[in-house]
Amino acid sequence: MDMKKATITKICAREILDSRGNPTIETTVWAGAVSATASVPSGASTGTHEAHELRDGDKKRYGGKGVLTAVKNVNGPIAKKVMGMNPANQKLIDGVMLAMDGTPNKSKLGANSILSVSLATARLAARLENKELYQYLAGLYGYKPKNVPVPLFNVVNGGAHADSGLDIQEFFIIPQKGKFSERLRAGAEVYQQLKKNLAGKKLATSIGDEGGFAPHLGKNEKGFEVLSQAIKDAGYVLGRDFALGIDAASSEFFDAKSGTYDLTASGKKYTPKTIAGMYKQWFAKYHLQIIEDGCAEDDFIGWKAISAELGKKTILVGDDLFVTNIARLQKGIDEGIANAILIKVNQIGTLTETLQAIQLAQKNNYKVVISHRSGETNDDFIADLAVAVNADYAKMGSLSRGERLAKYNRLMAIEAELS
Ligand code: PGA
Ligand code: ZN
Repeated sequence: MDMKKATITKICAREILDSRGNPTIETTVWAGAVSATASVPSGASTGTHEAHELRDGDKKRYGGKGVLTAVKNVNGPIAKKVMGMNPANQKLIDGVMLAMDGTPNKSKLGANSILSVSLATARLAARLENKELYQYLAGLYGYKPKNVPVPLFNVVNGGAHADSGLDIQEFFIIPQKGKFSERLRAGAEVYQQLKKNLAGKKLATSIGDEGGFAPHLGKNEKGFEVLSQAIKDAGYVLGRDFALGIDAASSEFFDAKSGTYDLTASGKKYTPKTIAGMYKQWFAKYHLQIIEDGCAEDDFIGWKAISAELGKKTILVGDDLFVTNIARLQKGIDEGIANAILIKVNQIGTLTETLQAIQLAQKNNYKVVISHRSGETNDDFIADLAVAVNADYAKMGSLSRGERLAKYNRLMAIEAELS
């Protein structure tokens, strides 16, 4: 098809279920006989400053979590405006939806409605140009894809993602060597070893929302210890073959009233001035390479302190802090806070704005981590996105659950193609 003449002829959204069994939105966009579909993920430890996820609130359906209003917004007003537009005009289409919404956080149409159209449009344009999605995205935004990013495998789940009693939401293993397929294999071997070790200690091997194990370990430090042991037992060396990382998701245990970080697992309390001390201890002991959301989303005092004390030797990722939002990221850059950003497409709600956040980060030497959500679908869009923009890391869950492996397997396919 002549891309210059391609137009969107039909848009159709519907309600589907995500990996937690909650409703989410999936949208198909057509240009004549060619179509493409995208669906939208959903978080559990959602940042206060994220774009608005529109839910029906009708308690008679899905406990209020239905997305029929979001579906209606796509099939009605959005379709009306976007039909007839050229799917290659991503920026224009996203801009039209933004203008229609008119709110600072997409609360009128819903970030979920808008994002489903935004992503499906990009996929449609790629298809019309006979390109792989990552190739198309790289071309659209001026990149040359080089490698598949380093995976962060979240193999022990705590916080809001499991009932393991751990304050720390995610403990991840970071394979240090080799190409992606080798890192995936190393990660999977440690994951299987971890399962054996936990079972041997009569600890639960049931899994949390992101596919990691959710054992009742008591202390947060035990999370690092079971990982260190599994790495060793699987024949690898911590500090050489693997490093460790965490997503503290600390907004979840920060008490804004008292201004303290209240850890239930250890019973300890920290202030914005002392929390860095906890991470420093862990850093020295457990080869901690990455700390995500070490401080709460609006605790700029704490963020400044951990950035000053740990920013030279660790990757400090802002998730709830930045929410893929260029205004919040710019503030962080100006204040010297963090040195990496977590990118979640549904935190901001359009592909265009997602790319703006990625490019602002890269321009300022912040590392880029492309991330899934705890509630996912089998859509593997973010795998292509991660390769397209030469992201540093891909955080797409553990080494089980189909919706997580969908992304990692797609990264394997892309790596094979790139070589
Ligand atoms: P969420 O968790 O998708 O529940 O927000 C992921 C994260 O905090 O990184
Ligand atoms: Zn996070």
